[in-house]
Amino acid sequence: MNEQSTHPEYVWWKGGMRRWDECTVHVTELGWSTVGAVFEGIRAYTGDAPGELYVFRLREHLERLERSMRLVRFAIDHSVDELIAITLDLLRANDIREDTYIRPLAYAADTSGKRFSQLGTDGELLINTHPMASHLKSGMTQTAKVSSWRRISEDVMPPRIKNLSNYRNSQLASMEARGDGYDTAILLNHQGKVSEGPGACLMLVAGGKVITPDVGSGILESITRDALIQLAREVLGLEVIEREVDRTELYLADEVFTCGTAAEITPIVSIDKYQIGTGEIGAVTRALESVFADVLRGREARFAHWRAPVYAGTPAMT
Ligand code: PMP
Repeated sequence: MNEQSTHPEYVWWKGGMRRWDECTVHVTELGWSTVGAVFEGIRAYTGDAPGELYVFRLREHLERLERSMRLVRFAIDHSVDELIAITLDLLRANDIREDTYIRPLAYAADTSGKRFSQLGTDGELLINTHPMASHLKSGMTQTAKVSSWRRISEDVMPPRIKNLSNYRNSQLASMEARGDGYDTAILLNHQGKVSEGPGACLMLVAGGKVITPDVGSGILESITRDALIQLAREVLGLEVIEREVDRTELYLADEVFTCGTAAEITPIVSIDKYQIGTGEIGAVTRALESVFADVLRGREARFAHWRAPVYAGTPAMT
């Protein structure tokens, strides 16, 4: 990262590492180039020792990118192994030494005169990075509103993949929640069951058990959700149940939090003005935040396979 700028020196684009300011597209490409685009959101975290930087579940994110690309019929020019190497090279080229967000985007190149069915046949891949500090264990909490917008469903759009157009639905729900004085939204699906937040999955704690909407509830196949399910079971010894969740369960839960790459773990302390539990961050949420932070920053040896070390001298990814 160059000191005067807020952008990295390099992005990966059109098959190679390129200087940030050389990467431009013509204005006439605005619009259709991203309507069918798919993307990923990945985080890298510093460790305790100087020079340690770990990408969290890089392979799983790039495998999901590959699935997203397959679903929208983008041609795939790179294997997941190649994409892993490219992402790590990009972080090294930018000499990233802080908590960072990594954003691969596969979009339709050269859209002029193309029909819907032709868009994306020659897809292009961009990988960008920008700093993103962690808010884990910072005490940050949010209030939420059950949105009047319903989550997109399988018969309309594919919620399980990171299709950029899905996020219009997320954006409408977020804007409504913010406009009504809440921090975030919770979307129900067309069956009226709880689905997820605009950009994060949702978990609640009731009777000492962790409960989370199942993948059939119209959620993204979240990598953080999957990680937290494993950590709750294997490290904290908690029962975790994936099932349909009713709206009223939210209001009556002892603890609620959202989870995702950007959201990490974000405690929700009130929903539709119902106080959740004590109105403070709950004990299970706190315990999960601690374990998760240890995993992300390289302090928890059991989950070393979830960390891709960026610089030499850090333990290899197994
Ligand atoms: N749901 C939605 C709609 C999201 O955008 C995200 C963020 N990618 C998540 C859930 C959480 O997914 P992940 O843990 O893989 O980041």
